[in-house]
Amino acid sequence: MAQSLPSALHQLRHDIRLVMPAYPQAKQQLKNITRKVKLNISDLETEILESSLPNTNIPLLLIDCPSLFNREGNPYTDEQGHPWPDNAQRFAQFCRAIVSIAIDQAQLDWQPDILHCNDWHTGLSGALLSLEQQRPRIIFTIHNLAYQGLFPHETFVDLKLPEELWSYDKVEFNGQLSFIKAGIVYADHVNTVSPTYAKEIQTAEYGAGLDTLLTYHSAKLSGIINGINLQEWNPETDKHIHQNYTAKNIQEKRKNKLSLQKQLNLPIDANIPLFSVISRIAEQKGIDLIISILSNIVENNTQIVLLGAGDKSLETQIVSLAQQSPNHIAANIGYDEALAHTITAAADFFLMPSRYEPCGLNQMYSQRYGTIPIVRNTGGLADTVINYAKTMDHTASTGIAFDEGNKDELLHAINTALELYSNQDLFKQVQLNAMQQDFSWQKSALEYTKIYMDS
Ligand code: ADP
Repeated sequence: MAQSLPSALHQLRHDIRLVMPAYPQAKQQLKNITRKVKLNISDLETEILESSLPNTNIPLLLIDCPSLFNREGNPYTDEQGHPWPDNAQRFAQFCRAIVSIAIDQAQLDWQPDILHCNDWHTGLSGALLSLEQQRPRIIFTIHNLAYQGLFPHETFVDLKLPEELWSYDKVEFNGQLSFIKAGIVYADHVNTVSPTYAKEIQTAEYGAGLDTLLTYHSAKLSGIINGINLQEWNPETDKHIHQNYTAKNIQEKRKNKLSLQKQLNLPIDANIPLFSVISRIAEQKGIDLIISILSNIVENNTQIVLLGAGDKSLETQIVSLAQQSPNHIAANIGYDEALAHTITAAADFFLMPSRYEPCGLNQMYSQRYGTIPIVRNTGGLADTVINYAKTMDHTASTGIAFDEGNKDELLHAINTALELYSNQDLFKQVQLNAMQQDFSWQKSALEYTKIYMDS
């Protein structure tokens, strides 16, 4: 999103700056730095590196504070996957830099009308801006409510945050400092990455403890679906796939199935329905549900290809079931983008039975490749899949959705899929409907623009 939305907004001729920490991976990609501006925001040496987003002329401002951001691992965790112990300091510093840009204290001779913040890492900027005379309007986007930036009260003290912010209607949440609460409270508008998730997070089941707060702020809460990268995910030009195709010659898609069956040592037969999964191996994604129906895939004489990495115990179960039924189940443990494209082009169906799903991308990639998604009716999945199982109307449907996250409902959805597949004319119509959906960032950017104007 941090790459795609700015590009789409730029095309709409908005004058924008993208601000992010100067992570080593980001710094390495800089072609040239046009300006360096020192920031006086704490004892830590910090400067703004002004450049542009690679291969564009979109201005990029990297917040370079080497003691906080210049380290191996990923932006949020060390190499072992543990959150950096100084994450509160890191993102408080980032927020201070955002504030200095937002009120032009950084002396970039530019001040935004709108500050668009993403996730808890940016949450404190709104709280700090509330203490300033002139501040831009603030939009806060929640990508996954499970990540909140919660820290003990001592951290609030260590960060030397103004005492007046420590209050139940400000940054304090059940005795802790909550970055995400600050983001929500001080924003003029809050959005999540799908309309359905925006509603769901106001319930105890999906609210991750914040449902009451979100319900209180419901008048300024909405949802906008993310777009997808239409260049990267295009069956007509995709370099990773065996045979390119379009909606006009969709019969060519089957060559990808034959090629993948060969590659993964599955029986080679274009008539066997091929299911697929590409996912983090995590409970959120309903991988345990998929494991529970693998024996049915074998009994039905169908095939399934899985690609993913994550929870070790779920990984082990998948590998062992694949070893028992090599003619039906192909398991690929690891992260492999090329294979993700190959599978998306080859499969007939894509399974995504998530317990919750803020937006989800793969159900959109699949539709663009004429691969029918089978999804749980939640969050972004509910908003991007037109459900055949509900209306049995093949003229408009793009996938199959089921309500409850249990084995019986998933099996029922799979049976509906197999019935559809048994009538190739109807199946093809649903494939074509799916391929014609508009999942562009341009569409989402127009919706964001409306929020920017209205908030
Ligand atoms: P989440 O961000 O919750 O993991 P999304 O569906 O929003 O789920 O995005 C996941 C992205 O990561 C998708 O683009 C998906 O294709 C990709 N992905 C997940 N696991 C793998 C994997 N093992 N190999 C390649 N790509 C993967």
